[in-house]
Amino acid sequence: MTGGPPARDVDEVLALYDEFAGHRYDETVSQLDHGLQCAALARRDGAPDALVVAALLHDVGHLLHLRDGGRGPVPEDLHHEDRGADYLAGVFGPEVTEPVRLHVRAKRYLVAVEPELLDRLSPASVSSLERQGGPLRGSELDDFRAERAHADAVALRRWDDAGKVEDLTVPPFEDYADLLRSRVRP
Ligand code: FE
Ligand code: FE
Repeated sequence: MTGGPPARDVDEVLALYDEFAGHRYDETVSQLDHGLQCAALARRDGAPDALVVAALLHDVGHLLHLRDGGRGPVPEDLHHEDRGADYLAGVFGPEVTEPVRLHVRAKRYLVAVEPELLDRLSPASVSSLERQGGPLRGSELDDFRAERAHADAVALRRWDDAGKVEDLTVPPFEDYADLLRSRVRP
């Protein structure tokens, strides 16, 4: 997956979701519904605004893949978390981008410390886990805990795994436009 330029402004991010987020990718819900459910769960749990934004946009890397002509999941790991974080860094600060960057490692962390979690992951999440390196082990666990945003990333990951419910009613994307603008870094 190529890097591509960072986002220029919030309008570009909004347009990207408008055009590509109806796609299902490899989950049962669309990217749009998935992001909206994660953001609603973050809100429900009283997360700070920056983390709500991170929850909403955490899989933007998948949308970039689609924008650039990708056709959904491919066998190799696309590193959508890095790609998404680098893209969002054009607009948002690390309180948004770093939980996004760590959300895959947070899954690898959680299945290492809570193996029973594997039973609750979606089939797509289980199959990508192997491509992403499987559960963290040994020093990888400490390295992850040493990340500044690791707790936010773990919280985001729990919403991520819960935010795949079919036909759940949640606030629409437009409701977050002002929040996104308010979190743009100076
Ligand atoms: Fe993801
Ligand atoms: Fe996700």
